[in-house]
Amino acid sequence: MYTTTTPARIDASLHRLIDKVTPGGLPTYLDVRPEPGATVNGCFSNVRAKVARDGGRMLCGWQLWQWPRVLVEAEFHAVWLSPQGRMVEITPKPHGERSILFVPDARRDYHGEVVDNVRMALHDDQLVQHFIRVSRAIVQVMTRSGQPAGQGHVHVPAEQIAPLRQAQRFLGCAIESELREHDPCLCGSGLRYEQCHGHELELALA
Ligand SMILES: [Zn+2]
Repeated sequence: MYTTTTPARIDASLHRLIDKVTPGGLPTYLDVRPEPGATVNGCFSNVRAKVARDGGRMLCGWQLWQWPRVLVEAEFHAVWLSPQGRMVEITPKPHGERSILFVPDARRDYHGEVVDNVRMALHDDQLVQHFIRVSRAIVQVMTRSGQPAGQGHVHVPAEQIAPLRQAQRFLGCAIESELREHDPCLCGSGLRYEQCHGHELELALA
C-alpha cells in the first residue's frame, strides 16, 4: 500500500518540491549508516545522542521521498554532521532503504515542534488530493493533542485518529490499484468514487 521510497533520480517534480521547501537547496544522496540504538522515527534524538557521544553537530533539512506516479514528499529531517564536516545519515529506514535523498536547509533548526511533511501530487486526481489532505489532518490531530509526530510513542484519542488512519489506508489501497476519481468506488457500492466515499470524505474534511 502507501509505499514511498527514496527517489531513484532527481527529476523535475523533485526540483519543484525542493523549490517549495528550501529554494536553491542542493539535494544529495547519502548512504544509510544506522547508529546502534538509533530508532526509525527518531532522527532528532538519534542525532542529539550521536553529537553528545562523538561531537559534530545536527544538520537539519528535508528527506525527499517518492511514491512513484502518485506523489513526492519532503520530510523535515536531521542528519549528523561529523567533526570533519561530513553529512552522515545515522537513522535506520522503515523499509530498509540503503540510501536517502537529503537537502540541507541552513535556515532551519529543530526546537521540538511538529513539522508536517510537504507533499505534491504527481497527477491531478481527487484520490491523491484526498490522501494528501487526510495525511495533513492526521498530523493536525496529533499536534492538537500535543504529541510530536514521528517521535516514537504517540498517544492520541483513538476516536479522532482511527477514522483518519482508516481513510488513509483506504485511499492508499485505492491509489495503489490505480483507481481514479471517475472509477467505481473501491467499497463496491457501484457508484463512482467522487460520488461515494470521495463525497463523504469531502464533507468530512471540509
Ligand atoms: Zn465507496
